[in-house]
Amino acid sequence: MDWNNIRDEATRYLQDYTRINTVNPPGNEIEGATFLKKILDAESIPSQIYEPSPGRGSLLATLKGNGSKRPILLLNHIDVVPVEKEGWECPPLDGVIKEGYLYGRGTLDCKSLGIIELMALLVLKREGIPLQRDLIFFATADEETGGKWGVQWAMENLPPLREIEYALNEGGHIILNEDGTPDRYAISNGQKVIFQLKLKARGTSGHGSMPHSDNPNVKLVQALNLITRWETPFHIIPTVKDYFKKMAFKQPPDKRGFFEDIEKGLNDPSFSTWLTSNPIYNAMVRNTISLTVLQGGTKANVIPLESTATLDCRLIPGTNKEKFLEEVKKRLGNEMEVEILSESESLPPSPLDTELYRAIETFAAENDPDCPIVPYLLAGATDSRFLREKGIITYDFCPFRLTEKELMRVHANNERIDLENLKFGTKALVEILKAVAV
Ligand SMILES: [Zn+2]
Repeated sequence: MDWNNIRDEATRYLQDYTRINTVNPPGNEIEGATFLKKILDAESIPSQIYEPSPGRGSLLATLKGNGSKRPILLLNHIDVVPVEKEGWECPPLDGVIKEGYLYGRGTLDCKSLGIIELMALLVLKREGIPLQRDLIFFATADEETGGKWGVQWAMENLPPLREIEYALNEGGHIILNEDGTPDRYAISNGQKVIFQLKLKARGTSGHGSMPHSDNPNVKLVQALNLITRWETPFHIIPTVKDYFKKMAFKQPPDKRGFFEDIEKGLNDPSFSTWLTSNPIYNAMVRNTISLTVLQGGTKANVIPLESTATLDCRLIPGTNKEKFLEEVKKRLGNEMEVEILSESESLPPSPLDTELYRAIETFAAENDPDCPIVPYLLAGATDSRFLREKGIITYDFCPFRLTEKELMRVHANNERIDLENLKFGTKALVEILKAVAV
């Protein structure tokens, strides 16, 4: 296999794919699905487009195995988030290559994952190696606004998807230090639970020149002051404990012991203050509450009748939602009306003692010996929740080598990918899939 040719082929596909406008809303993923289908058709890999709502297309392709083992799903999404054109070095939808990087919306999240998953399928097909499992490539609509026309729809309407044993999806990466050395293989096997609340304060409207004691804005601000200061208790689940333990040897000597046993470590006040000042770590060890929307009043001289706020709460899987809500209400006081705006199911992380996880570990050990492989709890939400809901063992792992600084370009201006990642990523997927499907 000439991997440089594979890189160049992947680069051309990703350039063309980036040029297809699938900004969601409205998404218009059907054009992306049609583009991918043409590539698959040319290689005689059967695929089908589903379009549950006009323009909201997803594409499912299957590379057949002999069925002696259950299928593996390679998941990716076609839609991308909107762009602010002014902030970009290169136009975001033109597929421009500059100094070894392809720039554009979706080049990290996650058209590039779609392309390396596609390339892995093409490589395995061209090699003609018999497979024990079906490999299912699924490029979906609507991830960026909740999955209603994509994975959520598919899990309800395409029963064969429920036969899947393992899935790989976006979320985790091979994280590099700033000097380019690998720091860790971060593989997300679970995510926090969405629990968004809308608060409403009611009062009496009036003239701003005559303050009174029933101003909803004042009530809201006072209640929010209490809730946003709440230091929720620590709640450590095994995945998180494992993460810190595996990262312990990289810490300075004074912190190593605390990482070794994070539950015990957090009992140390100065360590817990240090750890929770890092938003990523903080989100791993407790339920979090972010005040994200505030609405109250429309005019400088009018006291409004009501005002509202939204709390984006993210819970550690296994948290009792009713109890959490009770705790929230207790802090808000009885003047506040509380409504659940949206919530996801509380799902345990996928197990790690599996053939697929071991295959990733083996790949990591061969390519980056001494680099820890860490499972981690994703603070945000991906489509993986719809798979875990159906019992599919799902790992969020896209084998690109990226620094945390490069990753900050996701959803931001100047999103880009190093072209060497298209080669490494395809090669990694091919090796991992061979280990579990051949
Ligand atoms: Zn994404």
